[in-house]
Amino acid sequence: MIIHDERVAIPFEEYGIKIPQSDRGSMVLQALRQNKDLANHEEQWRYTGPLPLIGPADLERVHNHEYVRALFEDPEPAMLTTYELLDKNGNYHRYDPADAARPLAELSGRAQANAAGTCLAAERALDNGFCFFLGGGMHHATAEGGRGFCPVNDMVVAVRRLQAAGRIARAWIVDVDAHKGDGTAALCLDDPDTSTLSIHMARGWPLDRPSRNADGCLHPSFIPSTVDIPIEQGGEAHYLPALAHGLELLLSIDGRRPPDLAVVVDGSDAYEHDELPSASRLRLSRDQMLQRDLLVYEFLTTLDVPQAWVMAGGYGPRCAEVYVQFLETILARRLG
Ligand SMILES: [Zn+2]
Repeated sequence: MIIHDERVAIPFEEYGIKIPQSDRGSMVLQALRQNKDLANHEEQWRYTGPLPLIGPADLERVHNHEYVRALFEDPEPAMLTTYELLDKNGNYHRYDPADAARPLAELSGRAQANAAGTCLAAERALDNGFCFFLGGGMHHATAEGGRGFCPVNDMVVAVRRLQAAGRIARAWIVDVDAHKGDGTAALCLDDPDTSTLSIHMARGWPLDRPSRNADGCLHPSFIPSTVDIPIEQGGEAHYLPALAHGLELLLSIDGRRPPDLAVVVDGSDAYEHDELPSASRLRLSRDQMLQRDLLVYEFLTTLDVPQAWVMAGGYGPRCAEVYVQFLETILARRLG
């Protein structure tokens, strides 16, 4: 089952923001519709109903009250911070209001739609075993607020919403985006019911800073996931074996008890053709990207764990290829 929503697909250029992220979700959906084996069965693989309503109570299970209130009442300052649109002198950086067709504050609604899509994907995964949301994956957001282009942590919102509803007890968040899932790790550090795995670039953003702040506290980017797998530059050949080992380790740490749900943060910025400079230290080939996704999918399928997948990072026009090749493979299998 695939979920696509127009609100999460609005390009950043319409907000006057220069982040090279195209409308990936629509590109993926269009490519799937052009697949002759899928084109005639769209009603079997595409969800076309509404997204659930996400309110402050859903977000406050994850983010602090002041930040959630700002998101609903006065989001523009939070968006300037989250999307890093001010330089250290307070001048606009990669943002020009004169180029904007939409107000910056509208990005809060876009973030809520992303969270709603991930919540729905998690619900559908429980019903059907697998669901992919063409959005979401905002893994850098912490309890205090948004950062790194991530206004809310939609994965943790979805997990805690289902836990609050009594539909699941334990969850995994498996993050294969090129950047460390640091916000997710920080949010789940003291959560015994949510285990996290992150495989990511060993250096560069968000790890290119001292690990401790001036007050001696650990910076959020250095808070450990349950399993962290840092990959050094040039280490692409080790990536797939390291991921396979990491997944086994996660299962072992959890006492070999599979969770009730896994959310997979399927960033495509580890692809060699991704265009974001801060993701350039990891350059997996197209086939390695497919093997990566199938490794996670098959590991979870073997354990009979319902899996909700979200897009996360992916920059430039070629990132859609990564999702298309995976979804064509999976949908062909699942639809028989
Ligand atoms: Zn990323």
